[in-house]
Amino acid sequence: SSVFSGKRYAILGLARSGMATLEALSASGAELLAWDNQEDLRNAVADRAVIADPMESDLAGFDGVVVSPGVPLNRHPIVAKAASDGVPIIGDMELFAQARGGLPPHRIVGITGTNGKSTTTALIHHILQSAALPTQMGGNIGLPIMSQNPLPAGGIYVLELSSYQIDLMQSLDCDVAMLLNITPDHLDRYDGFDAYAAAKARLFDMMSPDHVAIFAGKDEKSQLALREIRAEGRVRHIVDSSLSVLAGQESWPSLQGPHNLENARAAVAAVEALGIDEAQWRPALESFRGLDHRMERTAEADGVLFVNDSKATNPASSGPALGAYPRIHWILGGLPKSDNLAECEPFFGNVVQAYTIGEAGPLFDELLRPVMPVESCEMMLTAVQRAAANARPGDTILLSPACASFDQFKDFEARGECFRCAVKSVIEKQQIGT
Ligand code: ADP
Repeated sequence: SSVFSGKRYAILGLARSGMATLEALSASGAELLAWDNQEDLRNAVADRAVIADPMESDLAGFDGVVVSPGVPLNRHPIVAKAASDGVPIIGDMELFAQARGGLPPHRIVGITGTNGKSTTTALIHHILQSAALPTQMGGNIGLPIMSQNPLPAGGIYVLELSSYQIDLMQSLDCDVAMLLNITPDHLDRYDGFDAYAAAKARLFDMMSPDHVAIFAGKDEKSQLALREIRAEGRVRHIVDSSLSVLAGQESWPSLQGPHNLENARAAVAAVEALGIDEAQWRPALESFRGLDHRMERTAEADGVLFVNDSKATNPASSGPALGAYPRIHWILGGLPKSDNLAECEPFFGNVVQAYTIGEAGPLFDELLRPVMPVESCEMMLTAVQRAAANARPGDTILLSPACASFDQFKDFEARGECFRCAVKSVIEKQQIGT
């Protein structure tokens, strides 16, 4: 029988991961209480759970309140409620951690950081797959962990872990734990930058001393975390992947830009820690296809390259994107997360002209006008048309917004899709260099 049989959990939120959790726990014989603000979601689980709002239920004796990483722990009343009833608040990753004893022997790579998590997770997964190891991606990427089939013995789970997910974990002992970088983001959910950095560093507090910790970032907070874990002396194998053997000049078709060199170095450090050698990882770097909306090579026409980096939702992720090409027409804007573009500045020399869209338009117009030509375009199609009209063979038209998407789009995927459509339209109408 499973570790969950006879245990009692309250599940708050029945979207994708909450629903997967409910199904898995129910199949394992746990006793469940479930709630979602949406009535149809509540009705869908009424045969497997007591439907009640945990805020209005006595949770004493429960083994956990399972919440989605979308719940802001710094201001949601469930936190105080669970504390007063003496019940831990956990996420699906913590349930996975608790269920590991029942799985065939396996290892876990956990990846956190402000930027590059998905790319690095997918890259590690791709290298392991190329080496013919049983492997699966989970966490912030791929199928919810609770709905995945267990891997056979020798399998490796590659888990992308946001700080929100780490906040909901107490015991995930990664065989390889990785911190990519820490730059300001999500500050609405933490009491400042230090608290956000500390949330990420908790991944290392959960790991066994003989497992491997990898630090990739040269930023201040990552370096501080690295010094602290060294000083603490508890974890014995610590790798600073910025000192990697991979030469500074290398690049691969789907890993363009200085940030992707960092990601590649971190991924190589991880797979080497898992026993993969260079003869296996080198060809896999070459054959990696990359992820949609991250430095995605959308099209090439009349010698002009179109790149969709819609996932760049903060200046720290757009900066290195600008480092990837020599002559860039830069489309940026959206819902701003920061009032400056400091992290992009070092790469301004590569930008021929900027095209602003969305709410951040006026702000970015003002910031950029003194240092480069800027066109205020407001809309994506206009921006792509203007950039295409100005582009010459050898130029790159790059959407790397440095902003969230929610002012004009449902999410960054919809924004990237809008860019793709606009690109298709200017190519079909032969509006390049006109
Ligand atoms: P995450 O899952 O952490 O959001 P992604 O791999 O989806 O990371 O990349 C998000 C954005 O950040 C993309 O626009 C990408 O080009 C950029 N990026 C990727 N890796 C890094 C890195 N190491 N440092 C800074 N920016 C990065």
